[in-house]
Amino acid sequence: MTFIPCWTCAQPATHVLTREGSNTLHACDNCTRIDRAEAESRGWTVKSIAETAPTTYTAAIATASDVVEYVFCDVAVAEDDIITFKVDSEGNETPVYGMSNRIVLEPVILPVRVDDDDKLTKATHAADEILAAHGWSVTGNWEIADNAMYAAVERA
Ligand SMILES: [Zn+2]
Repeated sequence: MTFIPCWTCAQPATHVLTREGSNTLHACDNCTRIDRAEAESRGWTVKSIAETAPTTYTAAIATASDVVEYVFCDVAVAEDDIITFKVDSEGNETPVYGMSNRIVLEPVILPVRVDDDDKLTKATHAADEILAAHGWSVTGNWEIADNAMYAAVERA
């Protein structure tokens, strides 16, 4: 889930405020409504977070019995959200993306059982093919988590 706190009230931020020579600020809807005119008059550019971020996508392969429908691994794709920002020593911020619940490819069953000893290798190969068949290409490495694997994907 997206959670970037508003710089004044710590509610989830929806907007980004930028100004040459100032650190970037994040503000919630309410504070944006209240402060926008004043901020803009002081030279800040106010944009919604959604507007500033290109949409990126993550594919997930479900690999454990507690997260699959029956006994087979499946693969799905969802839009990413900005989950946090990395800040370098000069205060520059880089967004860090994570999978949202906005599914763009509903789970597709893979011909790999979750109890197969070699499921991770087999499932990534199968997923690469399924994703390609649905117009996606895998651009990152598959990262292994407890009950799933994740990789960055792009529309091919
Ligand atoms: Zn606020």
